[in-house]
Amino acid sequence: MSLSQLQEKIGIVKEKLRKAGSVTVLTGAGLSADSGIPTFRGAEGLWKNFRAEELATPEAFLKDSGLVWGWYDWRRTIIAAKEPNAGHYMIAELEKLFSRFHLITQNVDGLHEKAGSTNPIELHGNIWKVRCTRCGQISFNFDVPVKIPPECRSCGGLLRPHIVWFGESLEPENLEKSYAALANSDLMFVIGTSGVVQPAASFAGMARSRGAFLVEINPEETAISEVMDIALQGKAGEILQLIVNS
Ligand code: NAD
Ligand code: ZN
Repeated sequence: MSLSQLQEKIGIVKEKLRKAGSVTVLTGAGLSADSGIPTFRGAEGLWKNFRAEELATPEAFLKDSGLVWGWYDWRRTIIAAKEPNAGHYMIAELEKLFSRFHLITQNVDGLHEKAGSTNPIELHGNIWKVRCTRCGQISFNFDVPVKIPPECRSCGGLLRPHIVWFGESLEPENLEKSYAALANSDLMFVIGTSGVVQPAASFAGMARSRGAFLVEINPEETAISEVMDIALQGKAGEILQLIVNS
């Protein structure tokens, strides 16, 4: 994509934004890439030669909770040292411009809140939250490194990350909130997601069928690029600054 093509596309997106009454943003791991947090599908996402799909599962946790916690401890240590980037801040700015605004994220790093977004729907949970496998209590745990295995303060049970693992269902409340947002969006941004993890991968198509104009921001073509009205190729932070700040 040439610079003039990019500028022309950004002009169209800004015009759509001016006319939009409601905006939805869906983000994925690519948004936090510029903060230095590895995506799962890049080579740097590997830990001790394990792939995320081998560790982020209920079966892996049952088999060896210490191993799974070791991986989370590694990820928590990386994330604890990172700050939001321009992309996170621009999304927080965008929120201030619309009374009907929804942010749906697949990220678990908490950087949206840190950048000032008020109410992200955290589809896949939050890496700073833990849930007791015995009593179900959910709480924050910011310990880095974390004591392995971590124990519930109320009942002494084994804590697990409050994360939706591969093979697990999303929280119904988060899904309902997402569907309501998707059904009522004039404009939807899909940012930094490869569009292969369901159900989020289907969200763009759902919004489009209800009339939303779809804008993708990603340096690469993705599995869902073809349902987009406009695909802006580039890094989330850079492109969002051109849209929101200029
Ligand atoms: P993914 O790893 O499958 O895809 C990342 C996408 O981001 C790719 O399409 C890539 O081209 C794009 N990308 C890379 N750099 C970018 C940039 N600077 N700007 C914009 N886009 C960029 O990520 P996914 O689709 O979110 O799915 C992965 C799953 O892994 C999710 O379920 C998520 O919960 C989890 N995850 C979360 C984090 C996090 O919280 N930061 C990190 C890794 C994985
Ligand atoms: Zn408990």
